[in-house]
Amino acid sequence: MTRQLTQLQECPICGSKEWRPVLWVKRSGAPHGDKDHQVSFTTLGMDLCQTCGHGVLESYSHDCWSNDEDWDMYWWYVLTPSELARLQSSLAACPTPLSPACPCPLHASLRESGEQLYGGVRSRPFVSPKVPYAWVRMELSEGSLRFKSLS
Ligand SMILES: [Zn+2]
Ligand SMILES: [Zn+2]
Repeated sequence: MTRQLTQLQECPICGSKEWRPVLWVKRSGAPHGDKDHQVSFTTLGMDLCQTCGHGVLESYSHDCWSNDEDWDMYWWYVLTPSELARLQSSLAACPTPLSPACPCPLHASLRESGEQLYGGVRSRPFVSPKVPYAWVRMELSEGSLRFKSLS
């Protein structure tokens, strides 16, 4: 199975490299180098660390318009095993967790709340073994499960 996290190799919590894909939330645009690419490309996806049980959400934003900003930026968010369990029990109702085009209500809610994530993490254009990350929990709001960053 393809991992959702494209840049992060080691779990920021325990250092393990044993990942399992959980969810692909969002994909917009075409990758740089693709014939359909137009300036920007963004993805949001989550893998689970099989060693410590944390979930890691990676937000990737590519934008080759700017001259003074990095083209590729990444943000990482971590869910505790219990928050991840809440998400996974709701995911039982999603027909295609690994499809960023899934039209289910959970996907729609996560896509929307995923855009508003901010936990004081600075983006990085490259990956070092120790990446900065913010904690995220799952919040039930008006019947929809949403990502909520903790700062
Ligand atoms: Zn881990
Ligand atoms: Zn879905």
